[in-house]
Amino acid sequence: MFIPVQGYLTLDIGLQIFEYYEDENSISKKKFRFAVVDQSKSKSYPSNFICILPAKICGKTESAFTKVFKDKSLEQAKSLLKKAYNKEDDSEIKAEIERRLKLLEPKAVDQIKCSSCGKLFQPKRIRKFKNNFCEECMKKRFGNQP
Ligand SMILES: [Zn+2]
Repeated sequence: MFIPVQGYLTLDIGLQIFEYYEDENSISKKKFRFAVVDQSKSKSYPSNFICILPAKICGKTESAFTKVFKDKSLEQAKSLLKKAYNKEDDSEIKAEIERRLKLLEPKAVDQIKCSSCGKLFQPKRIRKFKNNFCEECMKKRFGNQP
């Protein structure tokens, strides 16, 4: 099935949010399922269902959502969440929407401490198990090799 990506941005799509418990019999934490629905298709669920909005939108893992919205996924997810937030009056759901919006924000690159001189710097990549050296200390230790 071919879905015009651009078209969806102008269609009447929204979120339908469901609350559920993973285990009905025990006191487990309330969970939320965010379904993307197309209200122009149908007013009732599940015939208006498009896909589930994942909590995280990552470029590497493909979800039904990113298959539909492709490179517009992040933009689309944010606008859906913001739209839902403005319509919602349940404080618990609002908090969950806020949490999800935060998850979509690009992570600030953390500064790390150089293992040699102790200076804070922004690593190009973090070596998990090795020492992290700032650029100057790298040069001192390993010379100017690329
Ligand atoms: Zn250093």
